[in-house]
Amino acid sequence: MKNIVMKFGGSSVANGKKICHVAKIVADNKNLDCGVVVVVSALEGVTNQLIQAAQEAKKGNSEYVSKFKQELLERHLKTVKEAIKDKQLADDAKKIVEARIGELQQVLTGIGYVGELTPKSRDTVISFGERLSAPIVSGAIKDLGLNSEHLTGGEAGIATDSNFGEAGLLMNVTKFQLKKNIEPLLKKGTVPVVTGFIAETQNKETTTLGRGGSDYTATIVGAAIEADEVWIWTDVDGLMTADPKIVPEAKTIHELSFQEATELTIFGAKAMHPRALEPARKEGIPVRIRNVFSPDNTGTLIVKEQTAKTENGVKAVTIVKNVAVITVSGAGMVGAPGTAAKVFEVLGKENINILMISQSVSEANISLVIQRNLLERAVNTLEIALLGRDFIREIVSEDDVCVVAVLGAGMKGIPGVASRIFTAVAKEGINVRMIAQGSSELNVSFIVKEADGNETVRAIHTEFKLNKK
Ligand code: ASP
Ligand code: MG
Repeated sequence: MKNIVMKFGGSSVANGKKICHVAKIVADNKNLDCGVVVVVSALEGVTNQLIQAAQEAKKGNSEYVSKFKQELLERHLKTVKEAIKDKQLADDAKKIVEARIGELQQVLTGIGYVGELTPKSRDTVISFGERLSAPIVSGAIKDLGLNSEHLTGGEAGIATDSNFGEAGLLMNVTKFQLKKNIEPLLKKGTVPVVTGFIAETQNKETTTLGRGGSDYTATIVGAAIEADEVWIWTDVDGLMTADPKIVPEAKTIHELSFQEATELTIFGAKAMHPRALEPARKEGIPVRIRNVFSPDNTGTLIVKEQTAKTENGVKAVTIVKNVAVITVSGAGMVGAPGTAAKVFEVLGKENINILMISQSVSEANISLVIQRNLLERAVNTLEIALLGRDFIREIVSEDDVCVVAVLGAGMKGIPGVASRIFTAVAKEGINVRMIAQGSSELNVSFIVKEADGNETVRAIHTEFKLNKK
């Protein structure tokens, strides 16, 4: 029998109607004689609301807290009603929701009394989003005549260290415990519904895996039980060759490697958290990104070894906006070791992340790309630290630029890809300001004026015929 782990995000379980749809997808696959483990996020928006409520509780704003509690209760009870038709099952879910919200209220009251919100108590508060959604989803699945059980991440066996807020996974214990707890359920034909995002220390304290962590939960479970595939259900068709808002004929990418998918998520494809791919990559478990609104579509498959070779090596072209470029120059930098280190050190100390770097062989300048909203701070810091030293003469910046990244593992070792990219861009009369290629050869990134960004993306998409994939 095949085992599939399916993760449904907050937007897929935003209300009762959507939860019914999710339950139906689960039942359809279960009827194909698949073992299914469901991993579920909080109802859309709830995690953010919980974070807000925790802060208000700390300030002693009990009025806010009691109003919030009431609204949260009403929303979840309404969801139960819409999602579960059977009276008894609805009643069971309602009781759990009420009890858990009662517990949440006590936690918030406690925070109010102490006037302190620690990372640990914050994790406890924000774990309630998934604690509330899982019993409802499980009830909706039972409502369709299947057996189901809901478990928190901790109950399922996911163990972490006590780095609250972004806890580190203890994979060996986790694997052992998940196998022990989940496999017998699958053997019985039961559908386990596991809360995404939340886990437990070995002392049973609640932890979370960081925002967007439900994807990570799904691949952890998939890796532990050696599932055949992990499906991330979302509201897009998968990873795309380009942003369809920029390139209307952009296509879903059918297959790509873990390495390529990681690059793509780093370069702004928001379909998935990059850390989430790790457990699946290690165990070689394929991850599929699918659209809940078009379940007939097979989506994007992320695999270890690709079966199909992409002819010209290029898979996707993405754009990162809201960036700025800083160029530090001076003839004195030539052959002066330590200049680059000094620049990076100064920015690092200010907590400014560098997205892209390039230095020409003449060594007379270094260009760096950073987030645009940090530009002023970065330039000020660099001026204070570097100007007046004789090797640096000038620090200039531009804030009307964007990064275009062309991605694909097949580019490796194929000569001429870069020249095709830049010829295509030049034909549009667009000037390329700065270029970087990682030696992994998985991507070529460059800077153009922001006003030229979309045109650049379209030119490359057309040149590599990405619409014909
Ligand atoms: N509910 C959590 C969040 O909003 C986890 C998730 O949705 O993946 O970050
Ligand atoms: Mg989410």
